[in-house]
Amino acid sequence: MTELAKKLHDMIAQSGPVSIADYMQICLIDEEHGYYQNRPVFGKDGDFITAPEISQIFGEMLAAFHAHIFHLYNAPASAITFEAGPGRGTLSADMMRCYRAIAPALYEAPCYLWEASHALQEVQKTHLAPKEPVFISSLSDLPQAPLFGVANEFFDALGVRQAIWHEGAWHERRIDSQKGAFHFIIAETLEDSADHWRLPAQAEDGDIFEYCPNGEEIMGQLAHHIAHYGGALLVIDYGKSGHKGDSLQAVREHQPSDILSHQGEADFTHWVDFAALADVARRHHARLIGPVSQGRFLTELGIGERAEALRKPDDALGDRALVAAIDRLVSPAQMGEAFKVALLVPEGDGLPPGFMSLADR
Ligand code: SAH
Repeated sequence: MTELAKKLHDMIAQSGPVSIADYMQICLIDEEHGYYQNRPVFGKDGDFITAPEISQIFGEMLAAFHAHIFHLYNAPASAITFEAGPGRGTLSADMMRCYRAIAPALYEAPCYLWEASHALQEVQKTHLAPKEPVFISSLSDLPQAPLFGVANEFFDALGVRQAIWHEGAWHERRIDSQKGAFHFIIAETLEDSADHWRLPAQAEDGDIFEYCPNGEEIMGQLAHHIAHYGGALLVIDYGKSGHKGDSLQAVREHQPSDILSHQGEADFTHWVDFAALADVARRHHARLIGPVSQGRFLTELGIGERAEALRKPDDALGDRALVAAIDRLVSPAQMGEAFKVALLVPEGDGLPPGFMSLADR
Protein backbone atom coordinates (compact mmCIF):
# COMPACT_ATOMS: atom_id res chain seq x y z
CA MET A 1 0.00 0.00 0.00
CA THR A 2 1.34 3.46 -0.87
CA GLU A 3 1.91 6.09 1.85
CA LEU A 4 -0.92 8.05 0.35
CA ALA A 5 -3.32 5.06 0.46
CA LYS A 6 -2.50 4.68 4.18
CA LYS A 7 -3.20 8.35 4.75
CA LEU A 8 -6.55 8.11 2.93
CA HIS A 9 -7.57 4.99 4.89
CA ASP A 10 -6.81 6.83 8.16
CA MET A 11 -8.77 9.85 7.04
CA ILE A 12 -11.80 7.78 6.09
CA ALA A 13 -11.61 5.79 9.35
CA GLN A 14 -11.71 9.09 11.24
CA SER A 15 -14.18 11.21 9.31
CA GLY A 16 -16.10 8.85 7.02
CA PRO A 17 -16.17 8.43 3.23
CA VAL A 18 -14.53 11.22 1.19
CA SER A 19 -15.96 13.05 -1.78
CA ILE A 20 -14.40 12.15 -5.13
CA ALA A 21 -13.19 15.75 -5.37
CA ASP A 22 -11.26 15.52 -2.09
CA TYR A 23 -9.88 12.10 -2.99
CA MET A 24 -8.58 13.46 -6.32
CA GLN A 25 -7.00 16.53 -4.76
CA ILE A 26 -5.24 14.50 -2.08
CA CYS A 27 -3.96 12.00 -4.64
CA LEU A 28 -2.68 14.73 -6.94
CA ILE A 29 -1.35 17.52 -4.76
CA ASP A 30 -0.91 16.22 -1.19
CA GLU A 31 2.10 18.16 0.15
CA GLU A 32 4.13 15.04 0.91
CA HIS A 33 2.94 12.17 -1.25
CA GLY A 34 0.84 13.75 -4.01
CA TYR A 35 1.31 12.55 -7.58
CA TYR A 36 2.68 15.86 -8.83
CA GLN A 37 5.19 16.11 -5.95
CA ASN A 38 7.05 12.94 -6.65
CA ARG A 39 7.26 11.67 -10.15
CA PRO A 40 8.59 12.38 -13.62
CA VAL A 41 4.98 12.83 -14.61
CA PHE A 42 5.35 14.16 -18.15
CA GLY A 43 6.95 12.83 -21.29
CA LYS A 44 8.11 9.43 -22.51
CA ASP A 45 9.47 8.39 -19.08
CA GLY A 46 6.42 9.72 -17.29
CA ASP A 47 2.76 8.88 -17.53
CA PHE A 48 1.38 11.16 -20.22
CA ILE A 49 2.38 13.77 -22.79
CA THR A 50 0.81 17.20 -22.99
CA ALA A 51 0.58 19.49 -26.05
CA PRO A 52 3.58 21.70 -25.16
CA GLU A 53 5.67 18.54 -24.63
CA ILE A 54 4.79 17.39 -28.16
CA SER A 55 6.09 20.45 -29.99
CA GLN A 56 7.29 23.98 -29.32
CA ILE A 57 4.99 25.12 -32.10
CA PHE A 58 2.10 24.79 -29.64
CA GLY A 59 3.57 27.48 -27.36
CA GLU A 60 4.52 29.62 -30.34
CA MET A 61 0.92 29.65 -31.59
CA LEU A 62 -0.41 30.62 -28.15
CA ALA A 63 2.23 33.35 -27.80
CA ALA A 64 1.41 34.76 -31.25
CA PHE A 65 -2.25 34.77 -30.22
CA HIS A 66 -1.57 36.68 -26.99
CA ALA A 67 0.80 39.11 -28.70
CA HIS A 68 -2.06 39.96 -31.07
CA ILE A 69 -4.61 40.42 -28.24
CA PHE A 70 -2.09 42.43 -26.21
CA HIS A 71 -1.69 44.91 -29.07
CA LEU A 72 -5.44 44.94 -29.68
CA TYR A 73 -5.80 46.08 -26.05
CA ASN A 74 -3.25 48.87 -26.71
CA ALA A 75 -0.29 47.09 -25.07
CA PRO A 76 -1.00 48.05 -21.43
CA ALA A 77 2.30 48.92 -19.74
CA SER A 78 1.45 47.23 -16.42
CA ALA A 79 0.61 43.86 -18.04
CA ILE A 80 1.68 40.56 -16.48
CA THR A 81 1.88 37.04 -17.91
CA PHE A 82 0.44 34.08 -16.04
CA GLU A 83 0.20 30.31 -16.16
CA ALA A 84 -1.88 28.01 -13.97
CA GLY A 85 -0.35 24.54 -13.45
CA PRO A 86 2.75 24.96 -15.64
CA GLY A 87 3.96 21.33 -15.36
CA ARG A 88 7.59 21.30 -16.46
CA GLY A 89 7.38 24.95 -17.51
CA THR A 90 7.76 24.02 -21.17
CA LEU A 91 4.77 26.04 -22.37
CA SER A 92 5.74 29.24 -20.57
CA ALA A 93 9.36 28.86 -21.69
CA ASP A 94 8.31 28.39 -25.35
CA MET A 95 5.96 31.35 -25.10
CA MET A 96 8.67 33.55 -23.56
CA ARG A 97 11.05 32.73 -26.38
CA CYS A 98 8.41 33.76 -28.87
CA TYR A 99 7.43 36.93 -26.95
CA ARG A 100 11.04 37.98 -26.96
CA ALA A 101 10.98 38.01 -30.76
CA ILE A 102 7.50 39.39 -31.45
CA ALA A 103 6.23 41.17 -28.28
CA PRO A 104 9.22 42.15 -26.11
CA ALA A 105 6.92 43.98 -23.66
CA LEU A 106 5.31 40.63 -22.76
CA TYR A 107 8.74 39.05 -22.36
CA GLU A 108 9.76 41.84 -19.99
CA ALA A 109 6.45 41.71 -18.08
CA PRO A 110 6.50 39.93 -14.69
CA CYS A 111 5.67 36.23 -15.15
CA TYR A 112 3.35 34.79 -12.49
CA LEU A 113 3.07 31.03 -12.04
CA TRP A 114 0.55 29.19 -9.90
CA GLU A 115 1.92 25.74 -9.06
CA ALA A 116 1.03 23.48 -6.14
CA SER A 117 4.06 21.18 -6.45
CA HIS A 118 7.39 22.36 -5.00
CA ALA A 119 9.26 19.81 -7.07
CA LEU A 120 7.70 21.16 -10.27
CA GLN A 121 8.39 24.77 -9.22
CA GLU A 122 12.08 23.90 -9.29
CA VAL A 123 11.81 22.38 -12.78
CA GLN A 124 9.87 25.43 -13.99
CA LYS A 125 12.54 27.81 -12.63
CA THR A 126 15.24 25.95 -14.54
CA HIS A 127 13.30 25.91 -17.81
CA LEU A 128 12.42 29.59 -17.63
CA ALA A 129 15.91 30.84 -16.74
CA PRO A 130 17.15 33.55 -17.11
CA LYS A 131 13.57 34.80 -16.74
CA GLU A 132 12.65 34.64 -13.05
CA PRO A 133 9.03 33.66 -12.45
CA VAL A 134 7.05 34.79 -9.41
CA PHE A 135 5.28 31.86 -7.71
CA ILE A 136 1.93 32.53 -6.10
CA SER A 137 0.11 30.21 -3.73
CA SER A 138 -3.28 31.82 -4.25
CA LEU A 139 -4.91 33.84 -7.02
CA SER A 140 -5.44 36.68 -4.55
CA ASP A 141 -1.65 37.20 -4.71
CA LEU A 142 -1.93 38.42 -8.32
CA PRO A 143 -1.29 42.16 -8.73
CA GLN A 144 -4.18 44.31 -9.99
CA ALA A 145 -2.93 44.36 -13.57
CA PRO A 146 -3.99 43.19 -17.05
CA LEU A 147 -3.22 39.48 -17.26
CA PHE A 148 -2.23 37.49 -20.35
CA GLY A 149 -2.33 33.88 -19.35
CA VAL A 150 -2.82 30.21 -20.12
CA ALA A 151 -4.17 27.19 -18.29
CA ASN A 152 -3.36 24.02 -20.24
CA GLU A 153 -4.61 20.77 -18.69
CA PHE A 154 -5.10 22.56 -15.39
CA PHE A 155 -8.87 22.56 -14.79
CA ASP A 156 -9.07 18.81 -15.55
CA ALA A 157 -6.81 18.11 -12.57
CA LEU A 158 -9.10 19.83 -10.08
CA GLY A 159 -11.32 17.64 -7.94
CA VAL A 160 -14.70 16.82 -9.44
CA ARG A 161 -17.78 15.83 -7.43
CA GLN A 162 -20.23 13.23 -8.65
CA ALA A 163 -23.94 12.86 -7.99
CA ILE A 164 -25.74 9.60 -8.79
CA TRP A 165 -29.50 9.14 -9.30
CA HIS A 166 -30.65 6.36 -7.00
CA GLU A 167 -34.16 5.40 -5.88
CA GLY A 168 -35.75 8.61 -7.10
CA ALA A 169 -33.21 11.11 -5.71
CA TRP A 170 -29.73 12.48 -6.25
CA HIS A 171 -27.08 11.15 -3.90
CA GLU A 172 -23.42 12.06 -3.60
CA ARG A 173 -21.04 9.41 -4.91
CA ARG A 174 -18.16 9.04 -2.45
CA ILE A 175 -15.19 6.78 -1.74
CA ASP A 176 -15.04 4.52 1.29
CA SER A 177 -12.39 2.08 2.47
CA GLN A 178 -12.62 -1.35 3.99
CA LYS A 179 -10.02 -4.01 4.74
CA GLY A 180 -7.31 -2.23 2.81
CA ALA A 181 -9.35 -1.56 -0.33
CA PHE A 182 -11.24 1.46 -1.61
CA HIS A 183 -14.66 1.39 -3.19
CA PHE A 184 -17.34 3.80 -4.44
CA ILE A 185 -20.47 4.20 -2.35
CA ILE A 186 -23.80 5.93 -2.82
CA ALA A 187 -23.78 8.33 0.11
CA GLU A 188 -26.31 10.77 1.53
CA THR A 189 -28.99 12.36 -0.62
CA LEU A 190 -28.17 15.80 -1.96
CA GLU A 191 -31.72 17.10 -1.56
CA ASP A 192 -30.78 19.51 1.21
CA SER A 193 -27.35 20.39 -0.14
CA ALA A 194 -26.32 23.68 -1.67
CA ASP A 195 -25.38 21.77 -4.84
CA HIS A 196 -28.91 20.55 -5.49
CA TRP A 197 -29.80 23.40 -7.88
CA ARG A 198 -27.20 22.17 -10.36
CA LEU A 199 -28.84 18.80 -10.82
CA PRO A 200 -31.70 18.05 -13.23
CA ALA A 201 -35.08 17.31 -11.65
CA GLN A 202 -35.27 13.81 -13.13
CA ALA A 203 -32.82 11.14 -14.26
CA GLU A 204 -32.52 7.39 -14.79
CA ASP A 205 -31.32 5.06 -12.07
CA GLY A 206 -27.51 5.01 -12.06
CA ASP A 207 -27.10 8.25 -14.04
CA ILE A 208 -24.05 10.23 -12.96
CA PHE A 209 -23.71 14.00 -13.00
CA GLU A 210 -20.44 15.86 -12.40
CA TYR A 211 -19.65 19.30 -11.08
CA CYS A 212 -16.41 20.93 -10.04
CA PRO A 213 -16.93 23.54 -7.30
CA ASN A 214 -13.18 24.17 -7.06
CA GLY A 215 -12.88 24.80 -10.81
CA GLU A 216 -15.87 27.14 -10.70
CA GLU A 217 -14.38 29.07 -7.80
CA ILE A 218 -11.07 29.46 -9.63
CA MET A 219 -12.83 30.52 -12.83
CA GLY A 220 -14.80 33.04 -10.73
CA GLN A 221 -11.60 34.57 -9.35
CA LEU A 222 -9.95 34.74 -12.78
CA ALA A 223 -13.11 36.17 -14.38
CA HIS A 224 -13.32 38.81 -11.65
CA HIS A 225 -9.67 39.69 -12.25
CA ILE A 226 -10.04 40.01 -16.01
CA ALA A 227 -13.36 41.89 -15.77
CA HIS A 228 -11.71 44.47 -13.46
CA TYR A 229 -8.14 44.74 -14.70
CA GLY A 230 -8.35 43.45 -18.27
CA GLY A 231 -6.36 40.88 -20.19
CA ALA A 232 -7.13 37.46 -21.64
CA LEU A 233 -6.74 33.86 -20.48
CA LEU A 234 -6.67 30.80 -22.72
CA VAL A 235 -8.14 27.69 -21.14
CA ILE A 236 -7.29 24.42 -22.89
CA ASP A 237 -8.53 21.05 -21.73
CA TYR A 238 -10.34 17.83 -22.47
CA GLY A 239 -13.83 19.08 -22.48
CA LYS A 240 -17.53 18.77 -22.93
CA SER A 241 -20.43 21.14 -22.48
CA GLY A 242 -22.80 19.88 -19.84
CA HIS A 243 -21.98 17.56 -17.01
CA LYS A 244 -23.75 14.29 -17.57
CA GLY A 245 -21.72 11.09 -17.30
CA ASP A 246 -18.70 9.75 -15.44
CA SER A 247 -15.56 11.27 -17.01
CA LEU A 248 -13.06 10.35 -14.28
CA GLN A 249 -9.87 8.85 -15.69
CA ALA A 250 -6.65 7.56 -14.23
CA VAL A 251 -3.50 7.23 -16.34
CA ARG A 252 -0.27 5.55 -15.39
CA GLU A 253 2.69 4.87 -17.66
CA HIS A 254 0.61 5.88 -20.70
CA GLN A 255 -2.08 3.27 -19.86
CA PRO A 256 -5.54 3.65 -18.31
CA SER A 257 -5.39 2.75 -14.64
CA ASP A 258 -7.87 2.14 -11.81
CA ILE A 259 -9.09 5.22 -9.90
CA LEU A 260 -9.23 3.18 -6.69
CA SER A 261 -5.62 1.98 -6.69
CA HIS A 262 -2.12 3.43 -7.27
CA GLN A 263 -2.97 6.51 -5.21
CA GLY A 264 -0.27 9.12 -5.77
CA GLU A 265 1.18 7.03 -8.61
CA ALA A 266 -1.34 7.80 -11.34
CA ASP A 267 -2.70 10.97 -12.89
CA PHE A 268 -6.40 11.59 -12.29
CA THR A 269 -8.40 13.83 -14.58
CA HIS A 270 -11.97 14.65 -15.50
CA TRP A 271 -13.52 16.28 -18.56
CA VAL A 272 -13.95 19.98 -18.01
CA ASP A 273 -17.49 21.33 -18.31
CA PHE A 274 -16.96 24.51 -20.33
CA ALA A 275 -20.64 25.47 -20.20
CA ALA A 276 -20.47 25.60 -16.39
CA LEU A 277 -17.28 27.71 -16.54
CA ALA A 278 -18.90 30.10 -19.05
CA ASP A 279 -21.84 30.62 -16.65
CA VAL A 280 -19.44 31.51 -13.87
CA ALA A 281 -17.57 33.95 -16.12
CA ARG A 282 -20.86 35.64 -17.07
CA ARG A 283 -21.84 36.03 -13.42
CA HIS A 284 -18.54 37.89 -12.90
CA HIS A 285 -19.12 40.19 -15.89
CA ALA A 286 -16.53 38.49 -18.04
CA ARG A 287 -16.96 36.40 -21.18
CA LEU A 288 -15.67 32.90 -21.84
CA ILE A 289 -15.56 32.56 -25.62
CA GLY A 290 -15.87 29.06 -27.04
CA PRO A 291 -14.89 26.38 -26.64
CA VAL A 292 -13.70 25.43 -30.09
CA SER A 293 -11.72 22.29 -30.79
CA GLN A 294 -7.93 22.55 -30.43
CA GLY A 295 -7.58 21.39 -34.05
CA ARG A 296 -9.77 24.20 -35.36
CA PHE A 297 -8.15 26.81 -33.13
CA LEU A 298 -4.59 25.95 -34.17
CA THR A 299 -5.50 25.56 -37.84
CA GLU A 300 -7.25 28.94 -37.90
CA LEU A 301 -4.16 30.52 -36.31
CA GLY A 302 -2.04 29.10 -39.12
CA ILE A 303 -0.23 26.12 -37.57
CA GLY A 304 -0.19 24.50 -41.03
CA GLU A 305 1.66 27.45 -42.59
CA ARG A 306 4.04 27.67 -39.64
CA ALA A 307 4.86 23.98 -39.97
CA GLU A 308 5.44 24.33 -43.72
CA ALA A 309 7.97 27.10 -43.00
CA LEU A 310 9.80 24.86 -40.53
CA ARG A 311 9.97 21.73 -42.68
CA LYS A 312 13.39 20.23 -43.18
CA PRO A 313 13.83 18.83 -46.68
CA ASP A 314 17.41 17.74 -45.88
CA ASP A 315 16.53 15.91 -42.69
CA ALA A 316 14.00 13.17 -43.41
CA LEU A 317 13.75 12.02 -39.79
CA GLY A 318 13.34 15.52 -38.37
CA ASP A 319 10.83 16.37 -41.05
CA ARG A 320 8.75 13.29 -40.34
CA ALA A 321 8.80 14.05 -36.61
CA LEU A 322 7.56 17.58 -37.30
CA VAL A 323 4.68 16.36 -39.46
CA ALA A 324 3.76 13.74 -36.85
CA ALA A 325 3.79 16.34 -34.05
CA ILE A 326 1.46 18.68 -35.92
CA ASP A 327 -0.83 15.76 -36.71
CA ARG A 328 -0.94 14.85 -33.03
CA LEU A 329 -1.95 18.37 -32.02
CA VAL A 330 -4.51 18.93 -34.76
CA SER A 331 -6.00 15.72 -36.10
CA PRO A 332 -9.44 14.79 -34.71
CA ALA A 333 -8.31 11.21 -34.13
CA GLN A 334 -5.56 12.49 -31.80
CA MET A 335 -5.80 15.62 -29.61
CA GLY A 336 -7.53 17.85 -32.15
CA GLU A 337 -11.14 17.16 -31.25
CA ALA A 338 -11.22 15.99 -27.61
CA PHE A 339 -9.21 19.00 -26.50
CA LYS A 340 -11.04 22.30 -26.47
CA VAL A 341 -9.87 25.91 -26.31
CA ALA A 342 -11.79 28.75 -24.65
CA LEU A 343 -10.82 32.38 -24.08
CA LEU A 344 -11.67 34.44 -21.00
CA VAL A 345 -11.91 38.18 -21.75
CA PRO A 346 -13.80 41.19 -20.37
CA GLU A 347 -17.47 41.56 -21.39
CA GLY A 348 -17.96 42.58 -25.00
CA ASP A 349 -18.59 41.09 -28.40
CA GLY A 350 -16.73 40.06 -31.52
CA LEU A 351 -14.57 37.00 -32.08
CA PRO A 352 -10.77 36.88 -32.06
CA PRO A 353 -8.71 34.77 -34.49
CA GLY A 354 -8.94 31.11 -33.64
CA PHE A 355 -12.60 31.42 -32.69
CA MET A 356 -14.09 32.61 -35.99
CA SER A 357 -15.78 29.26 -36.57
CA LEU A 358 -18.18 30.18 -33.74
CA ALA A 359 -19.73 32.77 -36.06
CA ASP A 360 -21.00 29.98 -38.36
CA ARG A 361 -23.05 28.37 -35.62
N1 SAH B 1 0.26 22.79 -18.16
C1 SAH B 1 1.22 21.72 -18.11
C2 SAH B 1 0.92 20.68 -17.02
C3 SAH B 1 -0.47 20.13 -16.86
S1 SAH B 1 -0.59 18.98 -15.51
C4 SAH B 1 1.37 21.09 -19.48
O1 SAH B 1 0.52 21.34 -20.32
O2 SAH B 1 2.32 20.34 -19.72
C5 SAH B 1 -1.35 19.91 -14.22
C6 SAH B 1 -0.47 20.92 -13.54
O3 SAH B 1 -1.27 21.63 -12.58
C7 SAH B 1 0.72 20.40 -12.76
O4 SAH B 1 1.76 21.31 -12.88
C8 SAH B 1 0.17 20.34 -11.33
O5 SAH B 1 1.17 20.31 -10.36
C9 SAH B 1 -0.65 21.60 -11.29
N2 SAH B 1 -1.76 21.62 -10.31
C10 SAH B 1 -2.72 20.66 -10.15
N3 SAH B 1 -3.62 21.04 -9.22
C11 SAH B 1 -3.23 22.28 -8.80
C12 SAH B 1 -3.75 23.22 -7.85
N4 SAH B 1 -4.87 22.94 -7.16
N5 SAH B 1 -3.09 24.39 -7.66
C13 SAH B 1 -1.98 24.68 -8.37
N6 SAH B 1 -1.44 23.83 -9.29
C14 SAH B 1 -2.04 22.64 -9.49
